[in-house]
Amino acid sequence: MKKLFPRIPWHAVSWKNSAFLMLTLALTVTVVPIYLWTHGLSAFQAILFLWFFIATGLSITLGYHRLFSHLSFKASWPVRFFTLCFGAAAFENSALVWSADHRLHHKFVDHEDDPYNINEGFWHAHIGWIMIKLRPQPPYTNVSDLERDRLVMWQDKHYVSIALFVSFVLPALIGLAWGGWGEALGAVLLAGVARVVFVQHMTFFINSLCHTIGRRPYSSRCTARDSALMALFTFGEGYHNYHHEFQHDYRNGVKPWQFDPTKWSIWILSKLGLATQLRRVPSERILLTEIAEKQRQLQQRIDNHQMTLPEQLSAGLHAAQQQLHLAAQAWEQKKTEYGKAVEQKLAESRLKVAALKLEFDQATARLRSAIEHWQQQHQLASAALA
Ligand SMILES: [Zn+2]
Ligand SMILES: [Zn+2]
Repeated sequence: MKKLFPRIPWHAVSWKNSAFLMLTLALTVTVVPIYLWTHGLSAFQAILFLWFFIATGLSITLGYHRLFSHLSFKASWPVRFFTLCFGAAAFENSALVWSADHRLHHKFVDHEDDPYNINEGFWHAHIGWIMIKLRPQPPYTNVSDLERDRLVMWQDKHYVSIALFVSFVLPALIGLAWGGWGEALGAVLLAGVARVVFVQHMTFFINSLCHTIGRRPYSSRCTARDSALMALFTFGEGYHNYHHEFQHDYRNGVKPWQFDPTKWSIWILSKLGLATQLRRVPSERILLTEIAEKQRQLQQRIDNHQMTLPEQLSAGLHAAQQQLHLAAQAWEQKKTEYGKAVEQKLAESRLKVAALKLEFDQATARLRSAIEHWQQQHQLASAALA
């Protein structure tokens, strides 16, 4: 083995992780097709597979990721309990350890301390970091908030038992109750083994492909990318460039038309009273971030091709940038003033709050028109460079 693959650092291989990943994959491409060939695919097995796929996949994206890692909303205990139990069944470690790694990923993205640093290669970011542990696991110093959650700590303590039970025993029991031992075997193979492989690689793709393919409308300073195609396979996590720019937003596909079933599920939970305090970045701030990135790209094009903009266009764009900058500053200030007044419930004067709201609305309107003006100037400048 060592002679066959001399480049693999064998001393660092995590045999437990590797054996699990290899065994489930091997079964999925051998025994599962044989079962399907001999038994066919019944509606019961298809529905059970889909149900477990969605339940465990969403528990990772909605629970492990947006709730526990990023605190992008608050959830009542049934939501936390469900996502902890079904999240465990994805076999991606406990929510506590997952969140610790993921917070490091955001803090050090693309650098050495990023556990799934894409600059160490696609394979490393996808699955290599789980199979080969070149660095010792850093101490969990970034999850003290989660350590105060008794459900999270319960899941961390019993992670393996919960994972085995929900992932394999539960589908087997459902299969047995539905149609005897044959259905139980099918349920373990499809809703258990094959489903684990699908959910795992879906999540792994967020760390590999979502840092490789797609656009970077919010920031080209990190490798994370937005891809509608990836969003289709990842419960909406494919809008990864936005997510890295605004990690505390409960939405990844922030535009209303973007496919993000995780965001829709959180919204539905909030309507049912099971989720509260959904965090959203104001749309003006999102637009300003997109504009800053467009400005960076335009400047890059000018520098790279050693071009110059016609003087009139250059002056127009510069003036629009200045106007936008001032409007944005005023907007931030009015937003803070109004936000503080609302928070403190300025009991002494409702009128004062109303006046601050009016000033904030006016600042928003000014900012919106400055944004529109900048967009027109930017279009003219881009057309001139084309
Ligand atoms: Zn990422
Ligand atoms: Zn994240």
